[in-house]
Amino acid sequence: MSKNILFLPGDGIGPEIMETARRVMEWFNDKRSLGMNIIDDQIGGAAYEKYGTPLAAETLKKALEVDAVIMGAVGGPKWANISYDKRPEAGLLEIRKKMGLFANLRPAMVFDALIDASTMKPEVVRGLDIMILRELTGGVYFGEPRGIFDIGGGERKGINTQVYTTAEIRRAARVAFELARQRSNRVCSCEKSNVMESGILWREEVIKLHAEEYGDVELSHMYADACAMQLLRNPRQFDVILTDNLFGDILSDEASMLTGSIGMLPSASLGDVDEKGRRRAMYEPIHGSAPDIAGRDLANPIATILSAGMMFRYSFGWVNEADMLELAVRNVLDAGVRTIDIAAPGEKPVGTKAMGDAVISALAKLS
Ligand code: NAD
Repeated sequence: MSKNILFLPGDGIGPEIMETARRVMEWFNDKRSLGMNIIDDQIGGAAYEKYGTPLAAETLKKALEVDAVIMGAVGGPKWANISYDKRPEAGLLEIRKKMGLFANLRPAMVFDALIDASTMKPEVVRGLDIMILRELTGGVYFGEPRGIFDIGGGERKGINTQVYTTAEIRRAARVAFELARQRSNRVCSCEKSNVMESGILWREEVIKLHAEEYGDVELSHMYADACAMQLLRNPRQFDVILTDNLFGDILSDEASMLTGSIGMLPSASLGDVDEKGRRRAMYEPIHGSAPDIAGRDLANPIATILSAGMMFRYSFGWVNEADMLELAVRNVLDAGVRTIDIAAPGEKPVGTKAMGDAVISALAKLS
């Protein structure tokens, strides 16, 4: 069955890294007859140049119709002074919102060959493979009331409201439990139920859903501040960490830094299942458009390649192909192939295209 994939390169290094991901996807199409149908369009600054807006209505329509969206990165100095709603980042926020992408999945994996890139001791991070599930469309970033208000006497008050409903908690928790079943079957749910009512509700609803439908998954709970500490002390104790928007923002950044390189980390954002039974999904590297190295064949394409791997796994259920792609990346790193961001002093780095070639030949060897 063919899969329609909306392909949005974006800005800066976006086109270069996405071209590499395209070659990898085409390799799978040719050798495995996977039938991926790539639909090209634009987002961010590139879309602003083409359509006068960072997310054209037609592009959004396609995003809502396809089986998955894969994106490079958006943003750059060229668009820094245009109005906020026309900036590249506004297009990204809008597509996430309109697609209803409420679950953000960020894996933090440490590849043995890159263990020295981490600032942590090797014995703490060796073999690390955790998944953070951050609720993405609720909580304090969206809650009302919000704003900055004059309260007289030269004083002002800033307000944001942490708010979660049963339905919002349950749908995020459901994704976490499903994910755990495909991994080591453990979920650690993190909140601040010691000091926040929204945290008490979060914990109660997670426990309830677990008892109703996911009794086979091991569930534990941790206060978010304790989790921040445990991520540094003993990160390998975790499999899936389930948490809200605010704590997830912080914990996922912390976890990504355990791995040492921003150019290596993919992400997925998932939404509801539509009327055709497909879960809305967008895949993208966690890094930005890196204008400082754009257009110079320097960027590491692995985060984007692994984002395609997450798409195989989570949108299409192509587990073997996803495993194969991860193994190919692992083999390339084991063979000492490095882009500039992961090269140790004295190692000669390869460019974006050459890293793509190396992954494709590693795939060919594996098949
Ligand atoms: P960045 O992630 O683009 O870059 C941070 C540093 O990491 C830079 O030195 C860059 O060269 C390096 N880097 C990033 N990705 C790399 C890769 N694949 N290979 C090698 N090196 C890599 O963050 P920034 O510099 O703060 O932001 C630049 C632009 O990207 C801004 O306009 C920002 O708004 C945007 N941004 C977009 C996204 C997104 O599209 N999801 C995310 C973050 C930032």
